[in-house]
Amino acid sequence: MWSSTYRPDKPQVGKVELRRIGTFFTPYNAQNAIVIACIFVAQLLGIAPALITAHIIDKAIPQKDFHALGVDCLLIVGSAIIAMLIGVYQGYLNSVVGEGIMRDIRTRLVAHLHTMPIPFFTNTKTGEIMNRVSNDVDNIDNVVTGTLVTIITNVFMIVTTVATMFFINWRLALLAILVVPLMILPLGPVGRKMYDIRKKTREKRDQIESITQETLSVSGITLIKSFAREGHEKSRFYDVGTRLMKLEINLAMVGRWFIGAITSMVVVGQAIIWFGGGWLAIRSEMTTGVIVAFVALIVGRLYGPAASLAGIQVQIVSALAVFERIFEYLDMQTEPYNPPGAIELPGIIGDVRFEDVHFSYNADREILAGVTLHIKPGQMAAFVGPSGAGKTTITQLVPRFYDAKEGDIFIDDPNIKSVTLESLRRDIGIVTQETYLFHDTIATNLRYARPDASDSAIEDAARSANIHEFISSLPEGYQTIVGERGHKLSGGERQRLAIARVLLKNPRILILDEATSALDSHNEAAIQEALVPLMRGRTSLVIAHRLSTILSADVIFVVERGRIVESGTHAVLLARGGSYARLYRKQFRDEARITAT
Ligand code: ATP
Repeated sequence: MWSSTYRPDKPQVGKVELRRIGTFFTPYNAQNAIVIACIFVAQLLGIAPALITAHIIDKAIPQKDFHALGVDCLLIVGSAIIAMLIGVYQGYLNSVVGEGIMRDIRTRLVAHLHTMPIPFFTNTKTGEIMNRVSNDVDNIDNVVTGTLVTIITNVFMIVTTVATMFFINWRLALLAILVVPLMILPLGPVGRKMYDIRKKTREKRDQIESITQETLSVSGITLIKSFAREGHEKSRFYDVGTRLMKLEINLAMVGRWFIGAITSMVVVGQAIIWFGGGWLAIRSEMTTGVIVAFVALIVGRLYGPAASLAGIQVQIVSALAVFERIFEYLDMQTEPYNPPGAIELPGIIGDVRFEDVHFSYNADREILAGVTLHIKPGQMAAFVGPSGAGKTTITQLVPRFYDAKEGDIFIDDPNIKSVTLESLRRDIGIVTQETYLFHDTIATNLRYARPDASDSAIEDAARSANIHEFISSLPEGYQTIVGERGHKLSGGERQRLAIARVLLKNPRILILDEATSALDSHNEAAIQEALVPLMRGRTSLVIAHRLSTILSADVIFVVERGRIVESGTHAVLLARGGSYARLYRKQFRDEARITAT
């Protein structure tokens, strides 16, 4: 269970079990079996031309048999065509498996992240998350797609070659195999080194991605330009880029040394065979032809594949550094979507109760210090109080974006901790100050609330939210693209779109954070009008910044230092002459005077 003090705990994955990586391959067992069969058939077909050639030289030509010669030539062409077709099919299957696994890992990661609690996102840089989802997954592509084929092909080649070598001369065969363990020696240290460097490069790439994300967003670039900090940002990026460059050079050099070491082993192997075979030849126990054949065999079909397997082993070990990062995210605790025994919240009436609710974001500071309140179905409750008092926090506990540390929250009857998150959030609509819109059309953004909404339902909602006329005046109407995060629209227009979106969702409970920023009188009036149908018939929790809102509230809660210090209607609270009256005089009296004049 994640708590209100949730931090993205980073579990020590340690040595990632290869078995866990293997589970990604399991759904593709059938295709993999066919791939293996294809490799065997293709390898066998690869031997055929040599055998047929021998038949041509030894039988067809000496016996002047034209028919056999023709058949042999056709067989050479036929076996090559079949091998090619099998190769193409195997390549296709290989792509299906590899790309399928990549899609599966990516989807699992993104779906898992969607179930992560909000504190994870407030504590983690977006760039880091993006880097893991896209670049990290791309980074394991070569391991996932090529490994199986390379391993099977090379093992098959090594086994058949070793058998052939023993068949030809067992003493030379033993000598040739002697070198193979030497190839394995550098695997441990090289793998570890590459793993370490790879881990560091991934972290540096996190930083690069974070800087890119932060500085190239609309808000980020506006900030940079307004403070003329382009030079600073360039050197910050250059510094991280330089550190990454050094790591990448390091990685390339380790790889280069490794290839050098393995290549040297191949030469050592040849020398050993020449020495051993030469010694036998001098003693007339072997012909030169056999030594030549042996050297050709070990270079092409023994050391070559052994070096390739060694390369794969190193690649897998260093890829573990990336897999660990992926597993680290997959192992993080998600929101309790369906906690044990959770019930579906039936269609709700909208009675909201807080009982002695305590909350803190971090262990060191209590933000809510015992909030008790009751909002009856259909009531509009306004929350007022100084900045930082905890008004937003109170509203965020209702859809369980955060969980109370102590105390309970009830909707109708059930404690919100005992219901499924889907059913709880289905009936809650939220309009925040920061309206988020996808870079898509107005229609698609509105339909996000109700994918099956008809065009007329969308227009009705837009009409109620006082934005239909504006949308219709645009050349492309509802098909207008709103731009990154809706930045092509004004703040007021974005907020009215957000209101239309919630109207489409038609929730029983509404959470509204009124915009603090001053809007022009036209937009202000348009939003106030849009709010009327939004609040009608719903239980509303409004963080109020407008006098008109608090005047029409059924109940006002005054929040101070994480407590409700007063509650009641405007008239009652004003008459009491306490916190509300002071706040009203400070914050709203000027507005009241302006409204009156
Ligand atoms: P305002 O009227 O300025 O929006 P508010 O009454 O809505 O203020 P909250 O946003 O609830 O206040 O914040 C209450 C306190 O909690 C503030 O002191 C704030 O710094 C702190 N706080 C808010 N969000 C977080 C967070 N994600 N992590 C840590 N502290 C936070």
